[in-house]
Amino acid sequence: MQKENNYQNPKRNTNRNGEKMEKLQTALRTFAEERRWQQYHSPKNLAMALSVEVAELAEIFQWMTAEESRYVDDACKTHIAEEVGDVMIYLTMLADKFGLDPLSCAREKMILNADKYPVPKE
Ligand SMILES: [Mg+2]
Repeated sequence: MQKENNYQNPKRNTNRNGEKMEKLQTALRTFAEERRWQQYHSPKNLAMALSVEVAELAEIFQWMTAEESRYVDDACKTHIAEEVGDVMIYLTMLADKFGLDPLSCAREKMILNADKYPVPKE
């Protein structure tokens, strides 16, 4: 039986998010098929590409102080957005290989995390 907790917000847990993820997965499949890139998109290669994109995102902050990383300029924000996009693309493609919806995976993991790390009682 599924446990209920604060992370299962019925307003966010609508089919609209699932439809958006499906549309993104379909668009990514089409993009790859049109370029005949599917041959390169094994789960191993997608996982490696994902880790590279995460590293590119981390590189933006590499030499900033913690405080500097909180207040970046617009050009830096644009760069962050591009890398977040790359990360999302590879994560979505990797999940798609296993028929997974990344948003559902995140929600399910938050339920597990809430059980593992309960809010401390005051
Ligand atoms: Mg990139």
